[in-house]
Amino acid sequence: MTHSARFLIVGPQGSGKGTQGVLVAEAFGVPQVATGDIFRENVKGGTELGKQVQEIIEAGHLVPDELTSELVRDRLQQPDAAGGFLLDGYPRNRGQVDDLDAFLASRGESLDAVIELVVPREESIARITQRAVEQGRTDDTEEVIANRLAIYERETAPILDVYREHGLVVEIDGVGTLDEVTGRIFAALAERGLDAADRGGNGAAA
Ligand code: AMP
Repeated sequence: MTHSARFLIVGPQGSGKGTQGVLVAEAFGVPQVATGDIFRENVKGGTELGKQVQEIIEAGHLVPDELTSELVRDRLQQPDAAGGFLLDGYPRNRGQVDDLDAFLASRGESLDAVIELVVPREESIARITQRAVEQGRTDDTEEVIANRLAIYERETAPILDVYREHGLVVEIDGVGTLDEVTGRIFAALAERGLDAADRGGNGAAA
């Protein structure tokens, strides 16, 4: 292995970060870890965790940091995440940034890049509304969408300033076709010496 690939992908709901995150993770041969997906699977499966978080998710609020960070630590300790990971939807606020920092530091690890997908508000709303029609997610109602975007702007966007100070943020224009945006991400990572072709993944760089 030539280098680690520890990435975050950050962007508002409807920025396409889920889809792009999967592509980046595959190319670098690391697992994509999306906290929202893990929570939804637990709700669907009726697990103890699912029962604890169902109401919170349906209201579009944030699950408490303690519970979320514990979930992420457990996941990142699995063997498949030893050489890297791509986190989607975590950290979502300052507390979670500190939790992740502490966890990585305890393992002598650090992030390689924070991919920021920049998409204007109207565009995100249009895309979430479209997804609500296609997938019927219970947290994609108009009121809940507005709530989630407000939380993003208030709590999540500021974490980018912290990562910017550390020179980790790779800003990507998220408006365009799926392939265009993917191409921008791989080009920007390669510019920072993070080349998918050097890794054990399928090297599907655009
Ligand atoms: P997402 O699919 O990332 O939009 O997440 C769906 C929902 O899961 C969010 O609206 C929150 O209720 C919950 N969730 C996901 N990730 C986090 C997180 N890092 N911290 C707190 N709650 C989260």
